[in-house]
Amino acid sequence: MSSEIRDDPEFRALLELSAALGADPARTQAAGGNTSIKRARVMWIKASGAWLADALRREMMIPVLLPPLRAAMAAGDPRAESAVAFVDPSYNAPGLRPSIETSVHAALPQAVVVHIHCVETIALAVRADAEAAIAARLPGLQSGEWIFVPYVKPGLPLAHEIGKRLTGKTRVIVLGNHGLIVAGETVAAAADLVGRVCQAFAAPSSAAPAPDLDALARLVEGGDYRLPNDPAAHVIATDPRRLAVARRGSLYPDHVVFLGPGIVEGAIVHGRAQAPPDLDRLAPMLVLPGQGVALRRDSPKGTDEMARCLADVAGRIPEDAPIVTLTPAQERELVDWEAEKYRRSRNAVSTGAS
Ligand SMILES: [Zn+2]
Repeated sequence: MSSEIRDDPEFRALLELSAALGADPARTQAAGGNTSIKRARVMWIKASGAWLADALRREMMIPVLLPPLRAAMAAGDPRAESAVAFVDPSYNAPGLRPSIETSVHAALPQAVVVHIHCVETIALAVRADAEAAIAARLPGLQSGEWIFVPYVKPGLPLAHEIGKRLTGKTRVIVLGNHGLIVAGETVAAAADLVGRVCQAFAAPSSAAPAPDLDALARLVEGGDYRLPNDPAAHVIATDPRRLAVARRGSLYPDHVVFLGPGIVEGAIVHGRAQAPPDLDRLAPMLVLPGQGVALRRDSPKGTDEMARCLADVAGRIPEDAPIVTLTPAQERELVDWEAEKYRRSRNAVSTGAS
């Protein structure tokens, strides 16, 4: 990395903000979310598959040349999708790719862009009445300063949909069934806005019966599944309200990418957790209604965080709320997407936890 950017206090401040957001499971999870800063012709953006939480521990910001990337986006050039062709040629970090959302960041004019999968934002953004629900909670922002973009596939399609709706003053974007984007001219301005919006969207999480961890451990002992590292993940199964929400379908992309479409419910047979017999391969997560959840022992890094995210999001959605779920076609385009396969492969490390 050039010393010029390393010495830039705004760059350092963005890394600090990224690490703080990445460390908070209510703000973003695992390799989800991304941040960027524009400096003249270059936009530094998080690498695909990297975790914001690691922003101060390892190098993860990749310089992308903005003018050719923006020209490619405007011309419908397919190379804008991965943006790999627009990485500054003087940068040398083999194996790293810019974020899947690089085009989204490039579509925004502000110097600093923060995209997170805030659970409180997602809980509103999955609602069929999301725009009205958001408007009621963002009284400090005028229409146009914030916009809502109904779900489209992340990446270039999302960048185009955002571009169509941007006003000259847009600085908050709520992405339907996905998350939050905040933009500002400084890191401090963006950080302040993230804090204000997340506070405005905050909702209490529904109460849930605690899981019996010893009983769960016996159910999975010696099998293909293990318990999640974070017991907070279990409440998707112990809280009937959350389970009812999860049964309605996939709520946001990273759920599909890491846990597969919807949820797979297992049963207890002879004192052991069992997956449905008709599955052709192990489900990433097995939901045991009333008991808890279990994750594949060979699950990639990030699976635990996504399991907890589902419980956190569902706990903030009223059971009777009108919600939008991803269609089977939208689920398929995420599972089959080469860019997502790459991002998963960057996290293909078994936690080895039991
Ligand atoms: Zn995202």
